[in-house]
Amino acid sequence: MCGIFAYQGKKTDVANLIFYGLKSLEYRGYDSWGILIKKNNHHFYLKRQTGKITDEKLKTIVATEGFGHTRWATHGGVLEKNTHPHFDCQKQIFVVHNGIIENFTQLKQNLIKKGHKLYSETDTEVLPHLAEELGKKINDRLKIIKEIIKKIKGLNAIIFYFFKNGEFYAFKNSSPIVVGKNYDGVFLASDAAALAPYTNKVYFLDDGEIIVIKNKNLSLFDKNGKPKKISFIDLNYKAQDTFLGQYKHFMIKEISEQPKVLTTIAETQEQNLKKAAKLIKNSYGSYLIGCGSAYYACLVGTYFFSKIAKRHINAAVASEFSYLVDFLKETSLVIPLSQSGETIDIISSVKKAKEKKAKVLAITNVLGSTLYREAHEKLLLLAGPEKCVLATKSFTAKLAFLYLLAHILNGSFKKGKENLKKAIKEVKKIINEADKIKKLASLLKNKKHIFILGRGVSYPVALESALKIKESSYIHAEGFAGGELKHGVIALIEKQTPVIIYNPSDETYEDTLSSAYEVSARGAYVIGIASKNNPVYNQFFSIEDCDDATTIPNVVFAQILGYYLTLARGFDPDKPRNLAKSVTVK
Ligand code: GLU
Repeated sequence: MCGIFAYQGKKTDVANLIFYGLKSLEYRGYDSWGILIKKNNHHFYLKRQTGKITDEKLKTIVATEGFGHTRWATHGGVLEKNTHPHFDCQKQIFVVHNGIIENFTQLKQNLIKKGHKLYSETDTEVLPHLAEELGKKINDRLKIIKEIIKKIKGLNAIIFYFFKNGEFYAFKNSSPIVVGKNYDGVFLASDAAALAPYTNKVYFLDDGEIIVIKNKNLSLFDKNGKPKKISFIDLNYKAQDTFLGQYKHFMIKEISEQPKVLTTIAETQEQNLKKAAKLIKNSYGSYLIGCGSAYYACLVGTYFFSKIAKRHINAAVASEFSYLVDFLKETSLVIPLSQSGETIDIISSVKKAKEKKAKVLAITNVLGSTLYREAHEKLLLLAGPEKCVLATKSFTAKLAFLYLLAHILNGSFKKGKENLKKAIKEVKKIINEADKIKKLASLLKNKKHIFILGRGVSYPVALESALKIKESSYIHAEGFAGGELKHGVIALIEKQTPVIIYNPSDETYEDTLSSAYEVSARGAYVIGIASKNNPVYNQFFSIEDCDDATTIPNVVFAQILGYYLTLARGFDPDKPRNLAKSVTVK
């Protein structure tokens, strides 16, 4: 899940360049980081440290090539010795790595037998030593890399740097590597957004391909080691989309961007959605799959499809889906939802589905991502780069796509679009009420538990809301279906326990109101989110009904509450502990 950034070119402030590259990739992992800069043929600068990236000293280094890594530890604790880049016994070969070398124990034992001194607990460290060992017999560095590819197991993205020769070799299996080029140099990065400030010409490396950087030039080799032309594509990001601008955190920036994102979807996606609807109609069974927030979007989708399109669609957690694929056949359609398009559980499921000859319609935010390339058909979320680890605008973009898709299947796109526009108005309204939500956050900031109740389509909204609150503020939050209250949750309701209740004026209204009375009778502090106020609510936030699109402003309420709870408790909303945005390890 780490971030990788490499540069070779004419620019002499490479340390700075890599620093900013890593900073923009920090959302992928941020427990420790490291950087290697070639100063001249005999000297390098190597820094590896735990904690978040800082730029002391880096600015003064004058050099034109190097690379760096921001880590999300899988093997070995968060210690300096485990931080990348890792190196061989002679400190001549350096490696940054994203993923897991599954057979590292055996490789390590063999290397130790051959006299190599390994200093870290990581799986990664075997790589430079392996190259060093192979280098004793093989002169050609490309051949060494090909040998290593054959020897290692697992899903990885790896860059080797041969210091003396000034050559980078990068390859991948599942995890991403993006290649970039501009007038003064060449780049490698874990995602395209990190390259946006420098170039919009990028190439997404394919599994098994090897990219070599030598003398400021790029050469590409296919799986069989044959030279291959690099076909660059144009990036759909603007550099400024990746900056904070006037905002303090990416989380609030991205929350605030939602009206714009949703409007773009409402105005531009009819034709693309019509094609997607056709695929669904022609399929024998359709399966929405996702992880985390994306899974909750899938669940919301099941209600949209049932209520609006009168169609059954299945939803599954992507990490479980690969155990459920036995019933897939040629006529099945799998619809994976993934912001990054790199989530390993999604990619593995998609590969399994393809083995069963099922069709894949990807809904992702990242053009050129692994998912984008693996899928037969795709819908781009158009949410722009999402840098906060927590999904906000990508989540509501997914809801907007699924909502409109259900309406297209029902032949009522116009109505769907109208409702979505009403929802956008409500999103703006709730964003303008941020101060009131901030006050609520300061009231709730020391609570141990927050419960969130919803029925029908508001049930998965309650699940997503709880996730938003717990993953950044670390307050235990639990979303549940209103009907389940009496089957367990009510036992936990005490005096002043906060219970947020989503109560749109749909078929669930009366039953949900009864639940509000039931928790209130046990002393709960009830926060009602609805179009109609009621004396049972201790606090009330008004959100007008926009048919099932009310789910969108409802979830925005929880995003803003999550943001202010996090600030009130003194945490960083963009980088919650232990989490990373693009989950590329199992
Ligand atoms: N497995 C490697 C480690 O633990 C790489 C982890 C990552 O992707 O950041 O250091």
